[in-house]
Amino acid sequence: MGSNETWWSERRKYSVEHSAPAFFTGLGFDRAHYYSSNNADLGGATPREALNQTAIDHKPVLPGIGWVIRMRAENSRFSRVVMGAWRAFRKSSTKGLAMTDGDRLVIACPTCATLNRLPAARLADGGRCGQCGNPLFQGQPVELNSANFEKHAISSDIPPLIDFWAGWCGPCRQMAPGIAATAAKVEPHLRLGKIDTEAEQALATRFAVQSIPSLVLVEKGQPIARTAGARPESVLLQWIEDAMALRHRHFPGRTIGDRS
Ligand code: ZN
Repeated sequence: MGSNETWWSERRKYSVEHSAPAFFTGLGFDRAHYYSSNNADLGGATPREALNQTAIDHKPVLPGIGWVIRMRAENSRFSRVVMGAWRAFRKSSTKGLAMTDGDRLVIACPTCATLNRLPAARLADGGRCGQCGNPLFQGQPVELNSANFEKHAISSDIPPLIDFWAGWCGPCRQMAPGIAATAAKVEPHLRLGKIDTEAEQALATRFAVQSIPSLVLVEKGQPIARTAGARPESVLLQWIEDAMALRHRHFPGRTIGDRS
C-alpha cells in the first residue's frame, strides 16, 4: 500500500479535525463521498453533515470489525478510482510550476516602473500594474534609462535582456524588428529592454559596451551573458536559450526564467 500515502495522510488530517478516532472515520469518509457523488441518501444534509452521520452509523462494536470493513472499503474499485483521480489532480496542479503557489515575484511595470508583486503561479496569466493599470507584460521592448533602470534590472525578479543601440547605427535599426518580435516570445520569463547609448552613456559605460548593437542579459544588476553584432531573429533566440542555461549555472536556486 505504498502508493496510498496521500490517502492515509488526508484521512489522518480529517480525523484529527473532527476529534474522532482515525480508525472509524475512514469508512465514513468513503461513504460520505459516495453518497454526495451519487446524490442519494443525503436527505438535505451537506456532505460534511452526512459524513459525520455515517461515521456514527457505521461505528462498529469491535475495533477488529472496523479494521476489516475499512480494509475492504479501501480496496474497493470506488476507492481506487477516487484516489487515482486525486493523485492525478495533485500531480497536474503542481507540475511545471517553478515555485510554489506561495512564492511571489517582484515585477517592474513596463509603463510606470512601479514594483508589483505577482504569485509565481500566475506569471503565465500576466496581470496588471497596481499603480497605472497597464499590463505587466506587453510583448514589446521597454526603454530603459537612468530613471527606471534600477527597478527593472535590480529590483525585478524578471531578468532583462538589454539591447544597447544608437540612432546612427545601421545594424541596430536593421535588428530592431527582430528584437521587437523576440520580446513577445521571451516574456514573461525575460524582459526585453533597450538602452539608447547616446542618451544613457553612463549605463553603456557601466556594462562596458564597446560596440553596438550589444545584447547583455542582466540578473540583479550583474551581466550574465553578452554578445555583440547584428543577427537574425532565429539566431538570436538560440543565443537566448544558451544564455538562459548559463544563467541557471550562475543562479541555480532561481528557476523562474528557465524554458523547460
Ligand atoms: Zn504601472
